[in-house]
Amino acid sequence: MRTTLIIGAGGVGRVVVHKCVQNADVFGKIVLASRTQSKCDEIASELPEAHIQTTTVDADNTQELIQLIQSCGADIVINVALPYQDLTIMDACIATKTPYLDTANYEHPDEAKFEYKLQWQRDDAFKEAGIMGLLGSGFDPGVTNVFCAYAQKHYFDEIHTIDILDCNAGDHGYAFATNFNPEINLREVSANGRYWENGAWIETKPMEIKMVWDYPEVGPKDSYLLYHEEMESLVKHIKGLKRIRFFMTFGESYLTHMKCLQNVGMLGIEPVEHKGQKIVPIEFLKTLLPDPASLGPRTKGKTNIGIVAEGVKDGKKRKIYIYQVSDHEKCYEEVKSQAVSYTTGVPAMIGAKLMLEGKWNGVGVFNMEEFDPDVFMDELNVQGLPWHINELEVE
Ligand code: NDP
Repeated sequence: MRTTLIIGAGGVGRVVVHKCVQNADVFGKIVLASRTQSKCDEIASELPEAHIQTTTVDADNTQELIQLIQSCGADIVINVALPYQDLTIMDACIATKTPYLDTANYEHPDEAKFEYKLQWQRDDAFKEAGIMGLLGSGFDPGVTNVFCAYAQKHYFDEIHTIDILDCNAGDHGYAFATNFNPEINLREVSANGRYWENGAWIETKPMEIKMVWDYPEVGPKDSYLLYHEEMESLVKHIKGLKRIRFFMTFGESYLTHMKCLQNVGMLGIEPVEHKGQKIVPIEFLKTLLPDPASLGPRTKGKTNIGIVAEGVKDGKKRKIYIYQVSDHEKCYEEVKSQAVSYTTGVPAMIGAKLMLEGKWNGVGVFNMEEFDPDVFMDELNVQGLPWHINELEVE
């Protein structure tokens, strides 16, 4: 029987465990490891019939990870801890020749900057170990990359522009909270924006570029241009691309709170001295904010994430919109997590499933758009993330 090792027992980890149990014929025995044992046990107790094995691990420590992978005989490692742990977990997978998957690209804890460089650099080591590494198998990155590959395969000869559009219209009733890890979320949102045009990255001030987009099943929402990691790989892999941008919706209240926190220095990642103790402001803020996992039962409304691609097919201009809508309450009903964790955890499970089934197969380190999108798109429809395609008018 196969063994699947899941590292990270947060909001996304919970969804991955539930979904792997729903697909037990593929995933076999499940081992859940994280920093806090009680969090693993709580998830395991939601699925008593699955006999999930739980344990603790410090995923910043490669040696500990190697021992864990060897002792449980993992056939795959699904990394849903934090982006800070990507490299140590990848290195443990190389040492033990175990396939690897994650949902977010590496970030150094002391530098608010994320890029694929250090993960791509491990391509040769993955090749030498004869294993596959799948990077960014969440929703964005993840499904958005697959949507782009699907558009390229079936709808275009050449794609010229892509806008990735991410809307979370969920309401949790708090004045301010983040839907996933506050540290990661606030670092991403408060950073400068960036988009890619005609071969160069163009930097913008945080929240400088705004548009209103009418999201199906949600309605018109203010959407702000941000830098987002999937663009780094998509500019390499989508033929003829001239521009790619990423937009995310934010409500007035969220932005006002964030601006204020930023102005008073609460988003800082450098330690400050407080009454003889060193504290990192954004880490302290995380302690004050509601745990994203606790938002599940109180969040209502929908998410809508998709891509708009414009280009040419058979000499004619064309524009299509591929999107997926999830309902926070329905997600919670199924797996006890709100839609942001759900839409990340389901694609993580699907990516791992396709790897274990050999449907996505390779040796080295890969991004999602490098594989055949059709099998992934089919899985989305049956695993809880059905999608839609609309043909839009070309202006
Ligand atoms: P959480 O903070 O809820 O969970 C992270 C888990 O990792 C926690 O259980 C935490 O343990 C554990 N962890 C952190 N550090 C270590 C360590 N050193 N050793 C062992 N375990 C550790 O985050 P989420 O579940 O919301 O997010 C998980 C991942 O998914 C993140 O990488 C995030 O960036 C990514 N993500 C990707 C998205 C996408 O669409 N691609 C969207 C949303 C998230 P403890 O509880 O003890 O702190």
